Amino acid sequence: MYFDAHNHLAAASLAPCRAQIFADLAAAGITRAIVNGTEESDWPAVAQLLVAPARPQSDGGSALNLRPPLILTPSYGLHPWDVGNRSPLWLETLRTYLIADPRAAVGEIGVDRWMLDRARPDDPRLAGLRRAPLEEQLAVFTTQLALAHEFARPVTIHCIDAFGLLLETLQSLHAANRLPPRGFLLHAYSGSAEMIAPFAALGAYFSFNAAYLAPRHTRLREVFQRIPAARLLVETDAPAMLAPPAHAPFSLPPSPENPSPNHPANLAAAYAALAELRRVPLAALTAQIEENFHRLFG
Ligand SMILES: [Zn+2]
Repeated sequence: MYFDAHNHLAAASLAPCRAQIFADLAAAGITRAIVNGTEESDWPAVAQLLVAPARPQSDGGSALNLRPPLILTPSYGLHPWDVGNRSPLWLETLRTYLIADPRAAVGEIGVDRWMLDRARPDDPRLAGLRRAPLEEQLAVFTTQLALAHEFARPVTIHCIDAFGLLLETLQSLHAANRLPPRGFLLHAYSGSAEMIAPFAALGAYFSFNAAYLAPRHTRLREVFQRIPAARLLVETDAPAMLAPPAHAPFSLPPSPENPSPNHPANLAAAYAALAELRRVPLAALTAQIEENFHRLFG
């Protein structure tokens, strides 16, 4: 029923609650998710999650078993926040993960000017990270796009405050026939409405995050009313990007590094809110998202 285009289900902070999370995902009707790794040290956890049982095995013949099983698709990449701390072997390691699993996508990768210009020096999410300058982020980003092109894998892109640079970069790759052929997801898209068409022309999909239902995000809600239906996806980014309480029925215990974690089963509430925002029946939106998801991620 519901497809999460972007989460971090393998995050270490979710590990203690994993059995409950899987039960909640099944109960909420979430059938598939793209599980993103962001740095070398969490790629093994992403791979490990796929071989773990998808659901608690103890529910015997209960109704839970009648639901379709949760299908997880791995995605491996070096996130712009982690570019500054990469090891000399990062690219070789990433290549190994992509070769080992032909289903694997490339992501989460991208460019982030917010981290350099607007993030608080004491933001706990950036603690201990060397904040790589934009040129260095861009070099690592384009290297990973080249890998996605070589292996023909879909790509998930993180971009904050650098949409002009991103569009320029993708357009020049397109002109050189070097853009990954499967298309790419602009996860939690926060660019302008004017940039939707040029990104879409390059193969972009745009995922809606329920954090955009916070009152201050009026502009982003308008943007998501204007995304073409065939390029729309929905995501949680869990355990990041918690939505306002009315749209987050599932909760997780806070931890020091994440005082307000987002539960991945909140995806169903994001679908409902997006259907209302776009004034379409939920069933029609669900069918459209499923089709879009399969077109991009296979
Ligand atoms: Zn993410």
